[in-house]
Formats: sequence, C-alpha cells, structure tokens
Amino acid sequence: MADIVNLMPNRKRIALIAHDNCKAEMLEWAEFNRETLAAHELHATGTTGTLLADELGLTVQRFLSGPVGGDQQVGAAIAEGRIDFLVFFWDPLEPQPHDVDVKALLRIAVVCNVPTACNRATADFVLSSPLTREEYQRSSSIYAEPTGSSHGLH
Ligand code: PGA
Repeated sequence: MADIVNLMPNRKRIALIAHDNCKAEMLEWAEFNRETLAAHELHATGTTGTLLADELGLTVQRFLSGPVGGDQQVGAAIAEGRIDFLVFFWDPLEPQPHDVDVKALLRIAVVCNVPTACNRATADFVLSSPLTREEYQRSSSIYAEPTGSSHGLH
C-alpha cells in the first residue's frame, strides 16, 4: 500500500463548523484567535461561516449549511485534499438531524489524517502549533488508491 502525501502549505485551508449550541463558543474562540485565523484560508459550513464573517469580518468561503449537505461537502473537500485542518465543535449533548453526516465527516478526517479539533482546548493547541505556520507533509497510507477493479469504478 503506497503512502499518499499531501503537502500542507504555510497558509492552511481551515474548515470551521459549529453546531448551534456551540456557535457562541466558536465565535469566542475565533475572536480570540482572529489575527491568526485571518492569516489562513477559511472555509465553513453556511451558518457558521456567515456568523464568522458578519461578527468578526473574516473572509470565509462558505459551504451549504451543515444539516442540508454542508458537512458532506466539507468531507468531500477533505477527501480531495482541499482542506488542511478541521475545527469542528459538534454538540455532544444533543442529537442532530444530520448525525450520520457528522459521523462520516469525522471518519474521513481520520482516514485522510487531517488534524481535527473537536473542542476549544484542542483547537487552541492545534492553532498555536508552529506546524500550523509551516509547510507540512501529511501522509496517509490507509486511503491509498485501490488496485485492480476491487473499487468497483470503471
Ligand atoms: P451550520 O452547520 O454552520 O450551517 O449551522 C453546522 C452543522 O450543523 O454541521
């Protein structure tokens, strides 16, 4: 199985998502880290992105809202190597209508070895890491191209 190596640039492509009960915390965290975040390329699900843009003046590329496909879009972007790390404040105390999408997103982030922060302390540690400002070779061997026709695509 060959390693897939993704070169993460200095300016990271960061995806931000917060469930409704976690949006206030996301805003607080993003405000505290505004300067650092502004140096990167920001992506977010619809409502989270609108909040970050309106409240903090950040430039954010927006996917659809999470419950109507935004989480799946972020997952697809991760699979295609277009997102370098994920900050995902998911709500551990309430079921979501799109729980299956949440699970799929967290799974693909692990498959692709994308740094993933699911709470504020982890997000602080990841964002303040020197590696966040440097190029980084991120390898993931577990999702190497399948060989032969076993993948079922022609
Ligand atoms: P939202 O989506 O940013 O559009 O609220 C987040 C989510 O529920 O996954």
